[in-house]
Amino acid sequence: MFIIKGKTCDWELVIGLETHIQVLSKSKVFSGASADYNPSVSPNTQVSMVDVAMPGMLPVLNEHCVEQVIKMGLGLNAEISRISRFARKQYFYPDLPQGYQISQPADEPPIVGRGWVEIMGDDGAPKKILIERAHLEQDAGKLKHDVHPTKSFADYNRTSVGLLEIVTYLDTKDPENRSYISSPDEAERYLREIREIARALGVSKANMEEGSMRADVNVSVRPVGDKNFRTRTETKNMVSFKFIKTAIEYEARRQIEIYENGGTISQDTMHFNQGEGTTTVMRSKEDALDYRYFPDPDLLPLEISDETIERIRRTMPELPSATRARYTHEFGLSDYDAARLTETTEISRWFDTAVNGNAKHAKSIANWLISELFAHPENWDVKNEKSGIVDDMRIITPGDIYELVDMISDNTVNGKQAKEIFIKMLDGEGGTPREIADKFGMKQMTDTGAIEKIVDEVIAANPSQVEQYKSGKVGLLGFFVGNVMKASKGQANPAVVNEILRKKLA
Ligand code: ADP
Ligand code: MG
Repeated sequence: MFIIKGKTCDWELVIGLETHIQVLSKSKVFSGASADYNPSVSPNTQVSMVDVAMPGMLPVLNEHCVEQVIKMGLGLNAEISRISRFARKQYFYPDLPQGYQISQPADEPPIVGRGWVEIMGDDGAPKKILIERAHLEQDAGKLKHDVHPTKSFADYNRTSVGLLEIVTYLDTKDPENRSYISSPDEAERYLREIREIARALGVSKANMEEGSMRADVNVSVRPVGDKNFRTRTETKNMVSFKFIKTAIEYEARRQIEIYENGGTISQDTMHFNQGEGTTTVMRSKEDALDYRYFPDPDLLPLEISDETIERIRRTMPELPSATRARYTHEFGLSDYDAARLTETTEISRWFDTAVNGNAKHAKSIANWLISELFAHPENWDVKNEKSGIVDDMRIITPGDIYELVDMISDNTVNGKQAKEIFIKMLDGEGGTPREIADKFGMKQMTDTGAIEKIVDEVIAANPSQVEQYKSGKVGLLGFFVGNVMKASKGQANPAVVNEILRKKLA
């Protein structure tokens, strides 16, 4: 459990995320304008009359966006509402020409109801994070304040691009239900899981850098053992995993300090200061906006049939949680390994290709991937914190690792030699593992006669160690193994060396 030590007690964190992902679709959610929103497109070239609220223009719901939302809902193991409505969320801002955002009512079931996603908890075990709802709404435009010294500009290309807001659930009636995010790392793993589900389904690019994924972060703290939730604050519009983690921890410490000095927390909206990594109050609850939601008279209630849901369900690919279950059940991997290997779809695809259906090698291949390849980021095309995308391996292919593991298992080389081959491949030696082994004469010595000869020499050269071993210091076996391996120039089969040594020393 992630705990912050206070002056008088230990504190735990309670975190709720409202995650927006941009829905992939050719056109916008309520108009026919192109939804291929990206910053390189000239401003205000992908705008329809509906988007900018020309009088008399009516929104038309994009059916494909609805199907995308249903797909994501199924990916979140959620209930899909057979009927839901759209509402106007009213506020004035220059990036919102209509004067309201079309969203779904806050107090009615939206398209996607209660669900859950599975992440790796801080204890390494799978943990369910409950989802309260996910609703479809339209994005706002973008204001540009940095183009002209005294003027601001509005770009409405993004206006009305479909957004899906996914809200995590907190069971305030049962504060002992721990199916919520409770640390900065869990928040990151949750967001990455959402991203991978969205990408696997083709529902969204869910890329924080590009702005197709953003999150509002709700944080509260409570003394460990305390049975009630306390007041939370909300930090809006966060666009990087790193900032989100920093903001959560800073905000938690800020609240703890206030409580420990006898103060109280009010339900404020916070602003995150990127430079300092701090949060400050942006507006207090008293200034909270009253959006005066009301049903949008331009849009009919949305009805979704069982047939539609079943048709979409049949198109669903394997999602990360199912992949993890396959890895633990079929390949016998640990929960931790399964979680690491499904951090991105690219990694799991790479791993599956390497295993090539041969469950026998899965565990060793997983070990190579996690302990060796992850430690050598130069081998990955892209493995940066910002996007977290791991593309194809550059130098070492899935087939290479399969062959390497196969060579160990059929005793062609030992583990140490395999690692040398691996390093040579990383250094761009070229060729397959077997070719490299041949080229450098790396071959495991399995001939027991030859190994026995070396063992005899090592035993003869270390009489006092032999004495100690025989009088009970069996830990010295490692010393002998090491010396035999060295004498064989690393070529002996360690299992055979162990066996012969044990016999001779007994
Ligand atoms: P609002 O309508 O004001 O945005 P919601 O009920 O939708 O509030 O909650 C927003 C998010 O805040 C949800 O993810 C919810 O789980 C989370 N949340 C609610 N109460 C708390 C709390 N006490 N501590 C932390 N997070 C909370
Ligand atoms: Mg909300």
